Amino acid sequence: MLEHKSLREKVVLITGGTSGIGRATAMAMGGAGAKVVFSGRRDPEGEETAALVRDTGAECKFVRSDVSSEADVKALVQTTIATYGKLDCAFNNAGIDPPVKPLHEQSLEDFDKVMAINVRGLFLCMKYEIQQMLTQGAGAIVNTSSIGGLIGFPGISPYHASKHAVMGLTRSAALDYAKQGIRINAVNPGMTDTEMLDRLDSGSVNDLSEVPMGRKGQAAEIAQAVVFLCSDAASYITGQPLVVDGGFTAH
Ligand code: NAD
Repeated sequence: MLEHKSLREKVVLITGGTSGIGRATAMAMGGAGAKVVFSGRRDPEGEETAALVRDTGAECKFVRSDVSSEADVKALVQTTIATYGKLDCAFNNAGIDPPVKPLHEQSLEDFDKVMAINVRGLFLCMKYEIQQMLTQGAGAIVNTSSIGGLIGFPGISPYHASKHAVMGLTRSAALDYAKQGIRINAVNPGMTDTEMLDRLDSGSVNDLSEVPMGRKGQAAEIAQAVVFLCSDAASYITGQPLVVDGGFTAH
């Protein structure tokens, strides 16, 4: 059962916490009793998130950090340990979307950029988080994939390739560490009301009439799924996608 303050005394690291799903999750983690370290590349937005998390009564630290830089990721994990002494949970959430157009019009530069952040960056985060979790003998990681990590859509093939890769990393790493107390799952949001969806909306790839619940998801609704997967209530769940999409992939 998901208890009140289900992450009490836990130390949580979140990437891409300066807006959207990452910010909402930082607030939800704080509300669930965790100490929160989060990263992003924008200082003013980082300070805004930090204030929102502290409003929940939680301790919180913002670290300016780019997931595509190995040195930054290593330093981010080290700062977490130096600040709060351990790392219990990680939410690898930072991600970008390429311009909306069919594959033959996509540039190699945009493809490489999406892969560098959504896949290589997430790989680096897992690598250094897991190194720390192995020394502690426990940990829970949630990676942000997407419904685009399970099915296709027209217009954003590089993005969906990256989110399928996130599922591959999630499932295989879950098997690597299943006996060592580290659970690794994915959250797979559908159309969620954030800056990213605003950008995709302008490319008109999203049609709400296709969503059985008839509305966009809210970042706070994704956040609750992440809190659950990080909590002990999910103690027998590893290597799985948790789809939060208003029923989109049900048909
Ligand atoms: P968003 O644009 O508000 O958030 C993305 C966050 O990632 C931002 O805070 C951004 O600064 C950060 N980021 C980007 N590149 C980074 C880098 N190199 N280093 C560190 N941080 C970086 O949009 P969002 O919707 O909250 O996106 C969060 C995640 O959810 C992404 O991985 C996205 O692919 C995924 N997602 C979103 C939707 C949706 O409909 N909004 C659906 C499925 C999956």
